[in-house]
Amino acid sequence: MKFLISDKIEEKGILKLKEKGQVEVETSLSKEELKNRIPKYDAIIVRSGTTLDEEVLSCADNLKVIGRAGVGVDNIDIDAATKKGIIVINAPEASTISVSEHTLGLLMASARNIPQANSSLKDEKWEKSKFLGEEVYEKTLGVFGLGRIGSEVAKRARKLGMDVLAFDPYISEERANELGIDLSIKEKVIEEADFITTHVPLTEETRHLISSEEFDRMKDDATILNVARGGIVDEEALADAIKEGKIKGAALDVFEEEPPFGSELLEMDEVIVTPHLGASTEEAQVNVAVSIANQVLDALEGKPAKNALNIPAMSSTELNRIKPYLSLAEKLGSFLAQVMEGSTEEITIILAGELIDEKTDPIKTSVLKGFFNAIVDEPVNMVNSEIFADKRGIKVIESKTSNAGDFNNLIKVQVSNDKTTTSVSGTIFGRYDERIVEIEGYRINTKLEGHMLYTRHIDKPGVIGNVGGVLGQNGINVGSMQVGREKTRGKAIMLLTIDDILDEEILKEIRKIDKINDVKYIKI
Ligand code: NAD
Repeated sequence: MKFLISDKIEEKGILKLKEKGQVEVETSLSKEELKNRIPKYDAIIVRSGTTLDEEVLSCADNLKVIGRAGVGVDNIDIDAATKKGIIVINAPEASTISVSEHTLGLLMASARNIPQANSSLKDEKWEKSKFLGEEVYEKTLGVFGLGRIGSEVAKRARKLGMDVLAFDPYISEERANELGIDLSIKEKVIEEADFITTHVPLTEETRHLISSEEFDRMKDDATILNVARGGIVDEEALADAIKEGKIKGAALDVFEEEPPFGSELLEMDEVIVTPHLGASTEEAQVNVAVSIANQVLDALEGKPAKNALNIPAMSSTELNRIKPYLSLAEKLGSFLAQVMEGSTEEITIILAGELIDEKTDPIKTSVLKGFFNAIVDEPVNMVNSEIFADKRGIKVIESKTSNAGDFNNLIKVQVSNDKTTTSVSGTIFGRYDERIVEIEGYRINTKLEGHMLYTRHIDKPGVIGNVGGVLGQNGINVGSMQVGREKTRGKAIMLLTIDDILDEEILKEIRKIDKINDVKYIKI
């Protein structure tokens, strides 16, 4: 086997590859040189410095695997690789321990004012009483996001004698119990934690997850930590909350703009900062090289690579037949992730009517792809979507029935936990007309696309008009509207397709309308 390493990686990873074949390390190839040389390799390992676009990949006649030593794959044309049957793999787990240790470092540093005391003493001041700290022992750590990093942080915090309360609606109680952690609701974590740390991806849903409303509800002596991504904590609201004494302080490794020069947070004694150092350790660099080398070798030996990001193309006849259902399935998964309530224990996928003869697997992976893409910021695709469910302890159940009710074909997807079940169903009319035809048991009929507004409310005169009024006043054009209700003056839902993005301010206004119980902005 022949390997090309075109960006610098740690020697340990190179040695792994050398055990199995011939390795060439060439870290300054021009695009032309890369195009000339790439045909002779079975695998290439890159970081962010090598661009593998369609033009380069069109020359890669023997290439079977691309390994990205790191997370982001912006420099790789995954669609072009997929078309050529080249598997693309990355290594998102390699920095988990480094980032969680950095979080614990910031936790202790903020509890004991270590950076401030360090600067003060180096300025030849001996300010013992100024830097009176606090213990973390028996304090509550609130963890947002119990994925790879969040769960490692939680485990370490428990060993320090802290109580851990976590909020993550996309993992099961069972997985949280395995970690010995109580899953809770967002409000409780915000209100009861002494330290709050965020380990969620940056998505539409998590942008400004911690903002003024959350700071208002926090304990006055709470500290917020962000070692995840800039933008999850609203920096302007954070600066105000500290100035107004609503919280004690913050520890930040990531910023809305990096470097955050000019930010007033850098001027505040209550805020300690590091320049995006979470993954900056020697060990993380070695882990990334070894992880990518092992996965590339697995893929070349035909074994499943745990972080594969794509799937080799299906035959064109097979793909043409199933393609509309894959698209519908992905949109239903995405819709469900955005409207569901509570935690996710099980995802059930039912294929009905003429779908009874189709393979379930590609439809199932498309549902999971849509579901997880709405809630994580790394690429989820047909190859890796089931792994996302597995890692979260979410059970995926598939079934088929010939009975599609009034439809020729139907895909029903439901998410359940021990308290609630949320379901959506969709069908395809003709060849390509994707429709959502059921939500939470209410019958509707709407195209699944663009921007949507979903409400759970009580059927009462004026509610629909008032929602329309708020949208109108804010210049939001409504494309279509569907309502469903249990009975007259009973529980009801409304789904509007709209032409624009809804910001949090408009959603807040709608939430204030009498008899509106819940409002969600959905983007498909
Ligand atoms: P992960 O995908 O393993 O875990 C993220 C978790 O967040 C998942 O369990 C998901 O269910 C949960 N989640 C998603 N939306 C949520 C919401 N609205 N509320 C609560 N939970 C939600 O990711 P990870 O590898 O643990 O990474 C976590 C974060 O750390 C990411 O933002 C990543 O970019 C960041 N990161 C930072 C550094 C650094 O240098 N500071 C390095 C690596 C990763």
